[in-house]
Amino acid sequence: MNSIIRGADWVLCEERGEGVPDGIYGVACMTCEAASPLFDDEQTPCAVWALHHTQEQPEHTLFLARTERHWRVVRRPEPEDPAARRPTALDRAFGPAFVGLMCLLTAASGLLPLLT
Ligand SMILES: [Zn+2]
Repeated sequence: MNSIIRGADWVLCEERGEGVPDGIYGVACMTCEAASPLFDDEQTPCAVWALHHTQEQPEHTLFLARTERHWRVVRRPEPEDPAARRPTALDRAFGPAFVGLMCLLTAASGLLPLLT
């Protein structure tokens, strides 16, 4: 769980949690329109697909490999009172962990419909 970048009130983080892939991989031929299916967490099937494609079409040797990841922006957990907005030492120590927990919870709640 890493926050990637922080704005004043929002935090961008990688979406992690049960069922959320680390990466979604795909590869597309640059010579024709052919593209592999998308694979969660595994690059090897893309490599196999590209090799098979070149075996079938020996002129097609250049591919565009893609890795996709889920990001989520969450509201920065902080008091609304502007006087209390100055981060404390405690905030600095526990802020990122709390945001990480928030991201986990958000990911889990997003998955609930899939699990029922
Ligand atoms: Zn091709």
